[in-house]
Amino acid sequence: MLLDRRVDVAVVGAGPAGMMAALAASRLGAKVALFERQPFAGAKLCASGGGRGNLTNTLPADVFLKRFGNKARFVAPALRFFGSERLTEFLNDLGVRLRVEDGWRVYPASGRASDARDALLRRLAECGVSVFTSSEIESLIIKDGRVCGVRASVGTFSCRSVLLAAGGMTRPDLGGSDSGYLLAKQAGHSIRGPFPALAPIRTSDLWTGSLAGVVIQNARLRIKADGKKLVSQGSMLFTHSGVSGPAVLDISGFVAELLCGKDAVEILMDCEPGADEEEWFGRVQRWRNSHGAKKVANLLDSILPGSFAMAVMQAAGVSMSRVAAELTAGETKRIIQALKAFRMTAVGTGGFDEAMVTLGGVDVSEVDAKTLSSRKVTGLFFAGEILDVDGPTGGFNLQWAFSSGRLAGHFAATQVG
Ligand SMILES: Cc1cc2nc3c(=O)[nH]c(=O)nc-3n(C[C@H](O)[C@H](O)[C@H](O)COP(=O)(O)OP(=O)(O)OC[C@H]3O[C@@H](n4cnc5c(N)ncnc54)[C@H](O)[C@@H]3O)c2cc1C
Repeated sequence: MLLDRRVDVAVVGAGPAGMMAALAASRLGAKVALFERQPFAGAKLCASGGGRGNLTNTLPADVFLKRFGNKARFVAPALRFFGSERLTEFLNDLGVRLRVEDGWRVYPASGRASDARDALLRRLAECGVSVFTSSEIESLIIKDGRVCGVRASVGTFSCRSVLLAAGGMTRPDLGGSDSGYLLAKQAGHSIRGPFPALAPIRTSDLWTGSLAGVVIQNARLRIKADGKKLVSQGSMLFTHSGVSGPAVLDISGFVAELLCGKDAVEILMDCEPGADEEEWFGRVQRWRNSHGAKKVANLLDSILPGSFAMAVMQAAGVSMSRVAAELTAGETKRIIQALKAFRMTAVGTGGFDEAMVTLGGVDVSEVDAKTLSSRKVTGLFFAGEILDVDGPTGGFNLQWAFSSGRLAGHFAATQVG
């Protein structure tokens, strides 16, 4: 095959990981080509955080790392190489002013995620990186266990390193596809899943729909299935088809994975984790003594949001007309059980159309965490969501994209020469 263009590093995908990787490689003097199959770069970055872009957060490095669960060891070298402080300095340098919200989440001060994308594109142009939009990489050219080029829809390029930053499956409208996985498979890599994560959950319970709009400010969600446990905490929103909000999004990937093998997954919700059973028994006792003639549903309604009190009474199997003085010991126990472990039956998630990240991807045991290079093919590197790494909401995923892009781009360039 006649190779018609020659670069040092070919980067596949102009999301945050690919743009950062291209900059990292070019600052080491590499000639870099960045390919994006969409008509423009960074579509997902621009849509992130509702268009405002929760780019990272200010949590201490060790706390940040722990939020990646069993992938913490794998992500550690990239986060040490280019953590949230370095990302903040880097973006400030590019002229992107940042602000901290809710005491820890970092956003562009302008309220526009597209400002970060535009600043990255300006720097790419200053560094002389060739950005090819509407250009899909269709296959890798691999010879004797070494990658030596890419076949793009715009022609064939020879190179010393290829860096796959093609993202995951989420939001096909923003570029999500299996295109990167197919390239990784061509190089002999295994793909775990993929499953949609950070997505709303659909439920089949009687209350589904009737609680739409009700927010539980600090819900604690628990799932126990197939010998595994998962807990998340944060605000939760009832929707017309089930539940959403940060606490739900954070467990949705686990639910999607479980739902591949079963029809339903039980989620237990504690609507007020700060109040233990004893505290609730004390409250009910006080109602009996001071408000005996009042309906329990109304008393609950005064401390629980919206119509959630009604759902609790139904879940506990206690009549809505029951007054506090008449509440039996069994009914009290069932109400407290419903408050501490409100049962929700998950039967589906929003899928890749509504998910924010992909759970699964290129198996990280086949990738060297210190350089993000392939253990299968020499000269091949990975960054961002294409890898089997995903974090919760709060800027973890974009920071991972930037950190891994910076590390992989650095080592992809050092292969050159
Ligand atoms: C609606 C939404 C909101 C989000 N909000 C946040 C948030 O506030 N904070 C946060 O941390 N995370 C957020 N995320 C997640 C975050 O956006 C992603 O984790 C991040 O964009 C992943 O970066 P990436 O560069 O790895 O992949 P992507 O951003 O997906 O970029 C990959 C690019 O590769 C291109 N591509 C794929 N295959 C090829 C090919 N064969 N040839 C050429 N190009 C190819 C794709 O078109 C795409 O543009 C959000 C995601 C969504 C969908």
